[in-house]
Amino acid sequence: MDPRKKIKCPYCGYAMPIEREEQATCKGVFVKCKGRNCGKVFEIIIKPDK
Ligand SMILES: [Zn+2]
Repeated sequence: MDPRKKIKCPYCGYAMPIEREEQATCKGVFVKCKGRNCGKVFEIIIKPDK
């Protein structure tokens, strides 16, 4: 199993060059999508779960 997962853009699904660990939590961090024809800024929200 891959312990890290790519962050995907919620608008276009583009896999960003950002990876998260299984236990990562995050909020208040914004990133601009690198996808073509997208370029939207979205917040990376990762809630602690499990
Ligand atoms: Zn996008």
